[in-house]
Amino acid sequence: MTKYALVTGGSRGLGKAVCLKLAQMGLPVIINYQSNEAAALEVKAEIEAQGGSAELMRFDVGCQEAVEVALKEWEMAHPDDYIAYLVNNAGIRKDNVMFMMPTEDWHAVINTSLNGFFYVTRQLLPKMMMRKHGGRIVNMASLSGIKGLPGQTNYSAAKAALIGATKALAQEAAPRSVTVNAVAPGFIDTDMTKDLPQDELKKMVPMNRFGKPEEVASLVGFLCSDEAAYITGEVISINGGLYT
Ligand code: NAP
Repeated sequence: MTKYALVTGGSRGLGKAVCLKLAQMGLPVIINYQSNEAAALEVKAEIEAQGGSAELMRFDVGCQEAVEVALKEWEMAHPDDYIAYLVNNAGIRKDNVMFMMPTEDWHAVINTSLNGFFYVTRQLLPKMMMRKHGGRIVNMASLSGIKGLPGQTNYSAAKAALIGATKALAQEAAPRSVTVNAVAPGFIDTDMTKDLPQDELKKMVPMNRFGKPEEVASLVGFLCSDEAAYITGEVISINGGLYT
C-alpha cells in the first residue's frame, strides 16, 4: 500500500511549491491542475529530476462530476493505494467592490475555493478515515478570510467559509487520526498577486516584503508530517507580521 499526496492547483504558485516540498518528503505526488498542462508537466519533471515521483490529474475542482470521474479512475488504477495527504489549494481571485460585482464572479470564486474543497475532500475522506494511518488535510485559506479585505467580498467569504469547514471537519475526523488544518497566507509572490501594486502593498507588511511560495510550502509540509499529528482544527497565519 502506497500513500499518495494530492495537491489541487499544483501546477503553479503555492501549489507547485507544495508539490515539490511533499515530494522532497518522500511522498508520491498527484499534481492537479485545471488547464495549464505545460506548467503541470514542468512540476512533474522538476520532481522527477530530484528523484521523486509524480503524476498529473486534470480536473476543475469546482465541477463535481469531473472531480468524481478523475478520482474514481485513479482509485480503480490504484486498488491497493490511497490518497492520505490532501492539500486543497486551488483558488482564484475575481476582485471588485461588491456593488459592482457580477453574479458570476461571486459564484466562480466561491465555487472554486469552497465547493472545490467539498467535492474533493468528501470523495477522499472514506478511505482516509478507514485506513486509520493518520491522514492529513490542509486547506489553503487566506488573510482575507480572517480579516476581510475590501474588493474581495467573494474571496473573503469563500476563505472564511473554508476556515469554518476546517474547524468542523477536524472534529469529525479526529477520532480516526486524520488532521484538518488551514493555512492563511498574507501576500505571497505568485501569478495570483503579480497584477497587484507590490511596492505599495509591501509597506503594509512589517517584514516589508511579499512571502515566497516555498515559505508557505514549508508550513504545509510540517502540517503533513508525523510531527504534526496532534495539531488539528487550526488556522495558521503566514504573513510576515501583517496584523490580522
Ligand atoms: P496561482 O498562482 O494563480 O495558481 C493557481 C493554481 O490553481 C494553478 O495551479 C491553477 O491551475 C489552479 N486552479 C485554479 N482554478 C482551478 C480549478 N477550478 N480547478 C483546479 N485547479 C485550479 O495562485 P496561488 O497564488 O498559488 O494561490 C494558491 C492558493 O493560495 C489559492 O487558494 C489562493 O486563494 C491562496 N492564497 C494565495 C495568496 C497569494 O498571495 N498568492 C494569499 C493567500 C491565499 P492552472 O495552472 O491549470 O490554471
